[in-house]
Amino acid sequence: MRLYDTLTRTLRDLRPLDGKAFRFYCCGPTVYGPAHIGNFRTFVTQDVLRRALETSGMPTCHVRNITDVDDKTIRDSQKAGQSLENFTQHWTEMFHADCEKLGLLEPHIEPSAVAHIPQQVAMIETLVAKGHAYASDDGSVYFKIASYPDYGKLSRLDERELDLGKTQNQRANADEYGKDSLSDFVLWKASRPEDGENFWPSPWGNGRPGWHLECSAMIQEYLGDSFDLHSGGVDLVFPHHENEIAQSACACGGHFAAHWFHITHLLVDGGKMSKSLKNMFTLADLEEKGFTAMEVRYVLLGAHYRKPLNFTLESLHAAREALQKLSKLAHQLAAKVGGEFSLTEISFGPFDAAWQSLNQDLNVPGALGGLFTGLRDAAGYEGKQAAAALAGMNRMLRALGLVLPSVELAEVAEVPQEVREVAEARWQARAAKDWAQSDLLRQNLLEKGWLMKDGKEGYTLEPT
Ligand code: AMP
Ligand code: ZN
Repeated sequence: MRLYDTLTRTLRDLRPLDGKAFRFYCCGPTVYGPAHIGNFRTFVTQDVLRRALETSGMPTCHVRNITDVDDKTIRDSQKAGQSLENFTQHWTEMFHADCEKLGLLEPHIEPSAVAHIPQQVAMIETLVAKGHAYASDDGSVYFKIASYPDYGKLSRLDERELDLGKTQNQRANADEYGKDSLSDFVLWKASRPEDGENFWPSPWGNGRPGWHLECSAMIQEYLGDSFDLHSGGVDLVFPHHENEIAQSACACGGHFAAHWFHITHLLVDGGKMSKSLKNMFTLADLEEKGFTAMEVRYVLLGAHYRKPLNFTLESLHAAREALQKLSKLAHQLAAKVGGEFSLTEISFGPFDAAWQSLNQDLNVPGALGGLFTGLRDAAGYEGKQAAAALAGMNRMLRALGLVLPSVELAEVAEVPQEVREVAEARWQARAAKDWAQSDLLRQNLLEKGWLMKDGKEGYTLEPT
């Protein structure tokens, strides 16, 4: 997989630092209302990246947090007359339900900010001890950005003519602030009457963490000082990710994220879809209009992640047609294969171009185009060739997280996931010339009722 990196502005190969699993962190939702489909453009794109890596045989460790304490969650839980915990739990459950419908794989770890207050306090203590943070008179603590000369590299402050030297005495106490305001940012917010019961003890008095801190603390806890990739929508580049880098670099050392993956916004009428602008659509809104979550997913995959995507209801109609067309072609292919189970698992057959597109800077529109072309090419296939094409198509659909409408026939040639995993592991053991392990896994497959036949470029699985 080659992917664009925001920091270096280059396409770079993705390889796990530890040689084992690709460990990545995605900034998760702020749970103070329903997530909108703009948020889901970002989450769906991250999901496809993970699926593509896993399809290529690379194990992943996916961490995505829940922001359950910040200015907005506190403000709106108060308005709703609910405890912060009950309020955020409700919206977290709604978020999970939407994720499931949209076919998002569950992250391996989903930590919440409130569950990591001690880790955040400890990080502030380290930053104060090292001279990167200071307490103000009211008991709030700020990060001193002038103490970190690399501040601003990700968002290229130098190109925006914002001068680090001019930040003396400028402080941002709000969790969110504009692109052009450069200032010391808040790590710990002293408790105010309007925060109600939502405060925790700290060496600086009662208060709560600033928003930017939680990701640094949870990354340190679950991924350590250095990890493979960090992701979010483009609005997070500054200040959120810039602040995360500063906190983590100064508190922990290490390299923090090796790669930065940012997704361009979903727009409505040319402007950003956002909760605060009240121009948002939720999944429930679209379901009410009669569309399915898969149609929404298809729309969200419709533009390259580095290009803006303008949302329209017409695009949902087009998605419906496209999915139906795909389904029809897939059925025709599956019908030819009938009950035959033979699969060339690691080959994509006529879907190779689709797979190559996906691996070239996650070109999903290219991959979707390749899916149609592959299906048209496969229309002339028979027997084993058709079975291999069907396997390639299923693999490609899994990588994109697409479930076609009524695919009973297309599943005829499916090998169970558990069997597929053992076969992949054996293929890798064989590639590594670990013959003992390879034999063991081959035997294991036989016990499961599958014969694995090795070819030059791939293997087939046949029921015994
Ligand atoms: P939030 O719940 O606001 O913290 O955002 C969750 C994720 O959605 C973040 O990665 C944001 O950058 C991303 N996001 C917010 N608005 C949009 C949008 N209109 N299009 C794409 N991603 C977005
Ligand atoms: Zn974050």
